[in-house]
Amino acid sequence: MSKKGIAILGSTGSIGTQALEVIEQFPDKFELIALTANRNADLLIEQALKYKPNTVVIVDESQYNKVKNVLWEHDIKVYSGEDSLNQVVEMTEIETVLTATVGYSGLLPTINAINAGKNIALANKETLVVAGDIVTKLAQQKGVNIYPVDSEHSAIFQCLAGNFDNKIEKLILTASGGPFRGKTHEELKSVTREQALKHPNWEMGAKITIDSASLMNKGLEVIEAKWLFGIPADKIEVVVHPQSIIHSAVQFEDSSILAQMGIPSMKVPIQYALTYPERPKSNFDRFSFFDYPNLTFEKPDIETFKNLKLAFEVLDMGGNSACVLNAANEITNKAFLDGKISFLEIGEINEKTIEKTEFIAKPTLEDYIETNKLARKLAEDFCN
Ligand code: MG
Repeated sequence: MSKKGIAILGSTGSIGTQALEVIEQFPDKFELIALTANRNADLLIEQALKYKPNTVVIVDESQYNKVKNVLWEHDIKVYSGEDSLNQVVEMTEIETVLTATVGYSGLLPTINAINAGKNIALANKETLVVAGDIVTKLAQQKGVNIYPVDSEHSAIFQCLAGNFDNKIEKLILTASGGPFRGKTHEELKSVTREQALKHPNWEMGAKITIDSASLMNKGLEVIEAKWLFGIPADKIEVVVHPQSIIHSAVQFEDSSILAQMGIPSMKVPIQYALTYPERPKSNFDRFSFFDYPNLTFEKPDIETFKNLKLAFEVLDMGGNSACVLNAANEITNKAFLDGKISFLEIGEINEKTIEKTEFIAKPTLEDYIETNKLARKLAEDFCN
């Protein structure tokens, strides 16, 4: 059996490093063709020396020489710049592209990879939030599969396997509730960056950890689920489940609910996305019911955590409004991390940016690119 050629976009981030550990378990199944990193040259070099991909891309051009100087004698090709990121996904040896970059930057390389006929293991949810209509349509045209890596969507996909012809009555997306679950509006006024960065269950990058604290992450996931599974917003229910053991569930029309569960670990969805439909034996920790005698569930507080409500609203509005929400949130998330705005201002500025950005009912890719620019600029003004 020939090996599956893999490219990892964003190999030095949280998902990227875990993906390398997953791939390392199966040297006879996978071959690493390309690794890309934004600016973490040291880790990219270390990964390249260990995993020996054919090609690496360091997006930050000022780091090109540093990477090149080490890797050239190991016969590893080194490229730099945004364009290289877009081009590397087209390499013929690549079968699946794992998109593990953060934010809007994942959109164009993902579209290029789909155009080149590559399957996508999608960890970059923003791609579908920004331009879900265009991306899913293109994937269909090109006969390309998009395998979810987000744990909730992987859970749903796992529940659907073997049931693709059965109608979905409801998708149940679980949410841990994050570090601020149960807090009132008043209490949230003074929460800090350090508190927001302490997620109770999941080890993740800073952007997604803040998104989890503000429930924006769940909102983005509702939008992602709509596009991945073709399900309208009114059939997607968010359930807060603080233990994060049930990763999500599907209710079918016969009333049965199938759920996928396990210890919270991104390695499980990464592996399933790369090995689907197989489930090869992994070395991951096993779950025991006896360690978790109480699994609990509650309704999300969408009045206090405005971002989740906004996500349902932009799904109703359609057009470019989810792109606006995502753009605003990338700015407010960073502004909060940089200490420029308070926690509650994240949702407030996201909302204002949606109100003030011009609505486009049927956006083209160019419209999305332009919307992203304008909304970011507007949100930046609100942050200053
Ligand atoms: Mg998730």
